[in-house]
Amino acid sequence: MTEYEITVDLAACDGIFACLVRDDRFEESEDGLVTLPDSERNGDELTATFDDDRLSDAEDAAAACPTDAIAVREVPEA
Ligand code: SF4
Repeated sequence: MTEYEITVDLAACDGIFACLVRDDRFEESEDGLVTLPDSERNGDELTATFDDDRLSDAEDAAAACPTDAIAVREVPEA
């Protein structure tokens, strides 16, 4: 299990949805951009924290995003 945070810059997101294919937690939202379960939106920044074994899926989604809108960072253990 790894705790990590996924951040999407919705100003950069272009609704291309390459991320959905790599990680099915990414979903199309009502505004045609992307959203994540249990995420918080602050302006154009969408953030969600997970604690599971799917870090590599999130990293694959980030790598696949043509506009580099997705950032994934591990949360250091306290
Ligand atoms: S791949 Fe990038 S641009 Fe496309 S929907 Fe996902 S976050 Fe947005």
